[in-house]
Amino acid sequence: MSPYRRLALLVVVSLCCALPARADVPAPSLDPAVAAAIARIDAANLRATDTRLVAFGTRSTFSEKSGPNRGIFAARDYVFDRFGQIARSSGGRLSVALDSYTQVADPAKRIPRDVVISSVVATLKGDDPAAPTYVMSSHLDSRNTDNNDGIHDAPGADDNGSAVSAVLEAARVLAPLQMHGTVIFACFDSEEQGLFGSAHLAQGLKAAHVDVEGDLNNDIIGASVGDDGVKRDDMVRIYSEAIPTAANVRLINAIGSENDSPSNELARYAKETGDAYATGLTGMLIWRADRFLRGGDHESFNAQGFAALRFTEPRETFAHQHQDVRVENGVQYGDLLQYLDFDYLAKVTRYNAAVLASLALAPATPKVSVDTKALTNDTTLFWDPVPRAVRYEVVRRLTTEPTWSAVQDAGNVTRITLPLSKDIWQFAVRAVDAQGHRSQAGFPTPVR
Ligand SMILES: [Zn+2]
Repeated sequence: MSPYRRLALLVVVSLCCALPARADVPAPSLDPAVAAAIARIDAANLRATDTRLVAFGTRSTFSEKSGPNRGIFAARDYVFDRFGQIARSSGGRLSVALDSYTQVADPAKRIPRDVVISSVVATLKGDDPAAPTYVMSSHLDSRNTDNNDGIHDAPGADDNGSAVSAVLEAARVLAPLQMHGTVIFACFDSEEQGLFGSAHLAQGLKAAHVDVEGDLNNDIIGASVGDDGVKRDDMVRIYSEAIPTAANVRLINAIGSENDSPSNELARYAKETGDAYATGLTGMLIWRADRFLRGGDHESFNAQGFAALRFTEPRETFAHQHQDVRVENGVQYGDLLQYLDFDYLAKVTRYNAAVLASLALAPATPKVSVDTKALTNDTTLFWDPVPRAVRYEVVRRLTTEPTWSAVQDAGNVTRITLPLSKDIWQFAVRAVDAQGHRSQAGFPTPVR
């Protein structure tokens, strides 16, 4: 055989060994209790809540002294009372609190005067104190053209009355459900000035050593028609940061894990789960923290090292955001209720609630290592046992694939060697409980 033919044969044999037949990743199994809970999400409730929020006139951070019927503190008290009503169906597990502090004036931070920043935080206790905590978040504040204007109307129907309505509705349907992990439903103040409310809560959770394994942040989720007039009520965008700020970029570059941040794994989990629950939506994964020129409260969680993502409607109309309500050259500006699609908002709320409940019912994310002590063409993974797990799954994909493309049942072990090359594949491990709830995929750290 000529050297060239031998080389060609070697390449073919290598490819065959490297690319075994795929065991495609099946959709997650559905939990009937979760399906029943999300079926109770009601577009009319979402419309009623958002209509009430808009009726407070403005929810600017600087409208806090506007009285009982106007401004952010009136809206805050309304949201607080709504959570109090929801708590009655929770068997004493849901509690609601204000997370407040005085932000001193700092013009460099868009805070021209001292202001009390006060977020509403409802906590639904899980039945396992050792299980992780998950957050569904939104921001309650609104703004018009002038970000410091606490006087004039800033209806904020879509940005972000839509998401506050979604958080309340998700809390309503999930409060009666027994889950293992604790779930926090948060409505933040002062997102528009610079994520102040969410930063305060995320820092507090970090300082208290709370194991937050995901924040599902929702911001501008209520319109299905964008500025091109096309209706897209069958998809939702899912943003997640590629490379955590504190990450070891040299390591990420070496192992090609730039699409495997904890936030990316959370986003994959969200898409798999949300799509599977037949919510009528497909999630679009976007590996970046947020849109250009924009940010959101999930970034406060990222800043503390927590996995977090942002849901946002398919295509925005910028004339309806951060604008004084007015008509100019025949164009209506302002963030008004008339542009919202509450059937679409109901879908996004179901998508969130399905993901949130699935996370809170599942085992914690495995902490996984990959053995890189020696040069080998196979892969050894090992991990700490995860409470409530009865078996584990190894998922894998090629480095160029966006989502897990193959799965292998590992049984109830905490170490496995696979005849597949770690130099070719990305691997991760999921924990599965007796009812079939799957954890997020734990991406391995190389260990020498
Ligand atoms: Zn917003």
